[in-house]
Amino acid sequence: MSYLEGAIRSTGFYKQKARRLKDFTKYLKRDYNYNLGQLLAKSKLKLRQELLSLNGIGKETADSILLYAGGKSVFVIDAYTKRICFRLGITNISDYETLRSFFENELPNSPKIYNEFHALIVALAKNYCRVKPACGDCPLRRECRYMRGLRNRQNKTFQIKRVPAKKYGPKVKKRKK
Ligand code: SF4
Repeated sequence: MSYLEGAIRSTGFYKQKARRLKDFTKYLKRDYNYNLGQLLAKSKLKLRQELLSLNGIGKETADSILLYAGGKSVFVIDAYTKRICFRLGITNISDYETLRSFFENELPNSPKIYNEFHALIVALAKNYCRVKPACGDCPLRRECRYMRGLRNRQNKTFQIKRVPAKKYGPKVKKRKK
């Protein structure tokens, strides 16, 4: 295992990521002589297109570079954001660009706010809205569609359980005429 693979092993898919990091470094050397400042000085749209043209860089990675390294106002969409939007009932659209436009239109145009908002989404997803959600303690449980559905299902289960009790309750003898 190379030094780089060892350093990023805990992030998962470390072999693939190490290859892509090497490719990115080659590109940085070839086109910018390792001058990251020169790369990040490009306009948001130009840099996004350039990053997306590189092998192994998808929308989430490109936008993370733009926001976190470049301080540009781009909202990053990840699996956590999609899951929470769906469960809260904000939208069931999972298309990357649609969700990105949604957040960018709804929030003030500020990298600081995008950064903080996304950090809050990650914290919510890691602490409560996991694959198996811990809704009981979640701070958003009162506004959550998933939680409402859960309550309704529990109420229905309760009603269904009560039906047989009525049906098979004490028999009433018919009066003889
Ligand atoms: S209430 Fe449950 S499903 Fe809804 S956001 Fe919180 S953890 Fe997720």
